Amino acid sequence: MVASIYQLGYKKLSQIIFEWQAADRASLLSLFIVLEITMHWLWCLFVWLRRGASNSYVDMTLLYPIWLIITLMGLFFWWTVGHLSNIKNDYQRLHFWQIVLIFVYSLYIAVVVLVMGHSSLVSGVSLVGGTMLAMMLVRRRYIWKAFLIQVFLIILVTLLPYAGINLPSMRQLNITSIPAGTFSYQTYNEITTIENAIAASIFQDGTLSWDSINEIRRSSAFFWRTTHLYLALPKAIFMVYVFSTILLILDDSKKEIIQHANHDELTGLKNRRYGLTQMQQTLAHLTDTQDYTVILLDLDLFKNINDNYGHDVGDQVLKEVAEILKEALNDADIISRYGGEEFLIVLPDMTHSLAMTIAEQLRRDIDRYVLQVDDSLSFRVTASLGLYTLTHTERMRIKQAYAITEPKENTAQSKKLQTIKSRKGKHVIIKTSELPKTYLPSDICQRLISIADKALYEAKDRGRNQVVSANEMLAADKSLGSIYSA
Ligand code: GH3
Ligand code: MG
Ligand code: MG
Repeated sequence: MVASIYQLGYKKLSQIIFEWQAADRASLLSLFIVLEITMHWLWCLFVWLRRGASNSYVDMTLLYPIWLIITLMGLFFWWTVGHLSNIKNDYQRLHFWQIVLIFVYSLYIAVVVLVMGHSSLVSGVSLVGGTMLAMMLVRRRYIWKAFLIQVFLIILVTLLPYAGINLPSMRQLNITSIPAGTFSYQTYNEITTIENAIAASIFQDGTLSWDSINEIRRSSAFFWRTTHLYLALPKAIFMVYVFSTILLILDDSKKEIIQHANHDELTGLKNRRYGLTQMQQTLAHLTDTQDYTVILLDLDLFKNINDNYGHDVGDQVLKEVAEILKEALNDADIISRYGGEEFLIVLPDMTHSLAMTIAEQLRRDIDRYVLQVDDSLSFRVTASLGLYTLTHTERMRIKQAYAITEPKENTAQSKKLQTIKSRKGKHVIIKTSELPKTYLPSDICQRLISIADKALYEAKDRGRNQVVSANEMLAADKSLGSIYSA
């Protein structure tokens, strides 16, 4: 149940943020305000119904004017709900009404917080919650200004009593002997102090007892604390709910962005950029004994498929070939769409002979697969594959070669000394620059792909629909070059 409400909220909120028009969002803000005002109105009703008891700690002379203001405001904001959603295309009018909405609400909430519930809890929640919610629904520029106005009002309301100006507050303790208005801005501790100070004179004639004044004070404290919770908590809970939902939406958007940035939309495979990044990462994490295989797979005479059956059928072929590859290979293997109808497959930790078997199996899987376009059209495609296995011994050799030829680190670090254990177990001190730095050249991926590409060309030359090993080509014909010169 809770999950489904959350799901519903999640869907609705993302719809509101991403799809709703500005006028509808402003109208929704008005509706939220109406709900809040309704809560204030009900509070007034409650106080009025209990006026006999509330009389001792609520200033009833303020109840009627504030109730009237709340009613008028409720009617006004109820009217704006309908009015705002009707001005969809007139942006100037919409902006004007957004400003009116925010300005009137800011003033209203300042009055309510001041007169009905001047506590830090209510002010804090109103300021932060209201601002955040409004920022989602109307122009942020306006909300910033309203926020600053509210901050100013809070500071003003806090300081004015110290300047001798008493602002209206419904929070009162009406005990006739105590000078009226004394308690408007006092905390309860202060009230206690004042009471203690004047207690002697009040209780002398015996008309008031400590028990009765404590009773009134306790009831008053309970009433006003409950009022503050009533004014602040629903808003706070709603805001927390909204923002946890927004975070969920952000998480999902982030996932979607990453998915778009890293994957090929047509086939769902990794795209070229991400394929290369993953290739780089897997290469860097190989152990000293692992071989590493790169395969380039290109569909044969694919242009003819487009020309004969149309681009859509060509797209379908690409999707289905991608499915064949995904099914045949493991999660640890990297399958990416390298170009139009060319796929880059990386098999980390794969010996040459095993990689040749897998490549041959892939070729056969594609060759055997019958693509059924519709009832009357079905055909088969073939693919050519070029493969290169970088053996661990070759990898070590490359690292050694680059350890010798790389000059960069020599100057800065040449003065650093380091203790290492020699083979005989003795500790010797050497310069860091003399330590062999073992890493692969930065363009190693391109070099590997380039060699696999030569094998792919050879496969096309030999008549297509076959696997050619670059390792075998290099062994047979040294003039082809090597990983060092690719
Ligand atoms: P070969 O056997 O020599 O590889 O011949 P080929 O026809 O496959 O090679 P070529 O490079 O001449 O043609 C590749 C074609 O792939 C050309 C291009 O229109 C098509 N292509 C590239 N990307 C897409 C795509 O996303 N969808 C479709 N339907 N076709 C694509
Ligand atoms: Mg092709
Ligand atoms: Mg091609």
